[in-house]
Amino acid sequence: MNNILVTRSSIPEFKEYCEEIKDLWNTHWLTNMGAKHKQLEADLKSYLSADNLDLFTNGHMALELTLQAMNLKGEVITTPFTFASTTHAIVRNGLEPVFCDIDSLDYTLDANKLEDLITDRTCAILPVHVYGNICNIDEIERIAKKYELKVIYDAAHAFSETYKGQNVANFGDASIFSFHATKVFNTIEGGAVCFREKRIGDILYDLKNFGIHGPEEVSAVGANAKMNEFCAAMGICNLRHVDEEIEKRRIVVERYREHLEGIAGLQLNAVQECVTPNYAYFPIVFDEKVFGKSREEVFDALAKEKIGARKYFYPLTNTFSAFHNKYDVTKTPVALHISKRVLTLPLYADLAPEDVDRICDVILK
Ligand SMILES: *Cc1c(COP(=O)(O)O)cnc(C)c1O
Repeated sequence: MNNILVTRSSIPEFKEYCEEIKDLWNTHWLTNMGAKHKQLEADLKSYLSADNLDLFTNGHMALELTLQAMNLKGEVITTPFTFASTTHAIVRNGLEPVFCDIDSLDYTLDANKLEDLITDRTCAILPVHVYGNICNIDEIERIAKKYELKVIYDAAHAFSETYKGQNVANFGDASIFSFHATKVFNTIEGGAVCFREKRIGDILYDLKNFGIHGPEEVSAVGANAKMNEFCAAMGICNLRHVDEEIEKRRIVVERYREHLEGIAGLQLNAVQECVTPNYAYFPIVFDEKVFGKSREEVFDALAKEKIGARKYFYPLTNTFSAFHNKYDVTKTPVALHISKRVLTLPLYADLAPEDVDRICDVILK
C-alpha cells in the first residue's frame, strides 16, 4: 500500500516554471522587489479584487509586520484555535493576546463572546478563517466599529474565497494570506497582506526591508521579509492553475462526504451559506461516546496504514509551554473540546478517489 501524506504541494509543469524563471538569467535580479515580484503583486490584486496588496517572504511575517505597521498598543482579542503564527505575531509585537472561545460548528472566533472581552486596553481583533470557514464577519465588524477597534483577519486558510460575493481579502483593516507550500495556493514559501488604508502599505514596504526608507534613511526598526523572484515566479505559475486545483479539491471533498456524511459521532465541516469555499481542509470531530473510537485511536489506525492525518489545531496556542501557563485554558472550553477531538484528513488536488475510499474504510472500521 502506498503512503498517503496529509498534503502535497501544487506545482506547475516543470517546463512552465523554467520558462518563467528564464528572464532571471538575463537580468540577474533575484530579489528586492524585481519584475516577478511586481507581476505577482498585480496578478494577485486582480485575482483577489484587492486595491492594496503587499507580498512577503511568508504569511507569518506579513502578519507580524502588519501589526507593527498599525502601531498597536495593549490587548488583541484572538482565538487559541489556530496555528502558532497568529498568537506569536501578537506576542512578538509586545501585545497581549486575549483569547476568545470559538464556535462549535465552524471553529472560528465566537463573535457572541467578543464584547465581554473588550476592555479599555483593547486595540484590535485578530480572528482566523479556520479551515477556510469564514468568521462571523458582520458581527465582528459591527463590534469593531462600535468600539473603534482594528480588525486584522488571519486569512491563511481562505485564499480565493468569497463572502456574500466579495473576496474575503477585502474585509477588515487587513487580511493576511499564507502561500506556504502546504496551502491551497503556494509560492513555495510566501505570504501577502491586503489592506484598506494606502498609508499602511507605505509603512509595510519599508518594514519588510529593514525599515529602509531611502538610500540614506532608515526610519523604522523593520525586518527582512521580502519575497524573492523565484518564489514570485512560482506564484505566477501556480496562480494560472489555482481555480482548477480548487475544483479538483472539491471533487475529493465530495467523495469524503459520500462516505462520512451522516455517520453518528462524526462532525464534518460546516457548509457555510454566502461563502464560495476553497476546500482547504477536511476536518472531522470525533465524539468517542457515539462513534465508539477516539480521535487518538483513529489517528493511530491511520498511521499504521501509512496514512497521514493531522491533529490540527492541537494543542491550543494558549497552552503552549512557551507561555508558561500564563493563559487560562478553561476560559476557552469549546476550543479545548474541539482541539482534543479533531483530525484533518489528507487533502490535495491530486488525491486519488481510491485513496479517499481507503482512508474512509480505515476510519469506519
Ligand atoms: C500557515 C498559517 C500561517 C503562517 O503562514 P506561513 O506562510 O507558514 O508563515 C498563519 N496562520 C495560519 C492559520 C496558518 O495556517
